[in-house]
Amino acid sequence: MKKSFLIITVIMFLFSTGCKKSDSDQSGKVNVVATIGMIGDAAQNVGGELVEVVTLMGPGVDPHLYKASAQDVSRLTRADIILYNGLHLEAAMGEVLEKMGEKKSTVPVSETIPKEKRLNADDYENQYDPHVWFDVELWRYSVKAVRDALIAADKKNKAAYEANWQDYDQKLAQLQNEVLETLNKIKPEQKILITAHDAFNYFGNAYGFEVKGLQGISTVAEAGTKDVQDLAAFIADNKIPAIFVESSVPRKNIEALQAAVKSKGFAVEIGGELFSDAWEMKELVKGLIWEWFSIMYRLLPML
Ligand SMILES: [Zn+2]
Repeated sequence: MKKSFLIITVIMFLFSTGCKKSDSDQSGKVNVVATIGMIGDAAQNVGGELVEVVTLMGPGVDPHLYKASAQDVSRLTRADIILYNGLHLEAAMGEVLEKMGEKKSTVPVSETIPKEKRLNADDYENQYDPHVWFDVELWRYSVKAVRDALIAADKKNKAAYEANWQDYDQKLAQLQNEVLETLNKIKPEQKILITAHDAFNYFGNAYGFEVKGLQGISTVAEAGTKDVQDLAAFIADNKIPAIFVESSVPRKNIEALQAAVKSKGFAVEIGGELFSDAWEMKELVKGLIWEWFSIMYRLLPML
């Protein structure tokens, strides 16, 4: 009896000292705060059991306009590391992120993508298009940056993060092949994707689609009447069968476009809803990969 009591005490002692690390919370896990679901997904896959991940923006939230709430600020303050996309995606959070960066590791994971592989943002001089997750090849750089940030925060578990990353990176490489294979089945003349805002340029570039958005790269500037009329004319002239709603942009914008096309004597369908900027990570472990398959499923009517 006495012996087992002693063992329990020793275990409790070891456990409590093991937890007293400056870089983790009471559970002993590294406390990660990610801005968007796709980054939260990467952190969960690479961090596994070693991390506790909180994602600030839920599915359908517009990251261009998103401002940190009081609750977010307290989460950010408690975080061991903060992971965000960068490339001006979280434009309205710039100040908060900068402030946090003075105190803790705050990493813009997609700014590790080589400049020559990035696309320029047409509407903004000297800025890059931030929607890099739409090219699986490029997203692998961001995931690698997540790995490096976790290792820097929790060096003793380096080997585990590397092994998890290796496994996930391999899955992404496989995903890239499957995306290419599926989307290549769409006839070239039908590879025109029209959505609510310019989130899909990387997608178009990587998988051979001509992409047109009603609004620009950011949703900050609203589409003018002329933009709507020009795009409507393009759709009617090219007899494009479907246009797509985005979960993070009001549906009425695409409905206005549909009405403008109708006034030009052509009926265009509204296809499914695409998650553009804030994906629905239904199953966190398979989140990004699952969402890719759901994107491909929604594009199937174009086949
Ligand atoms: Zn966007």
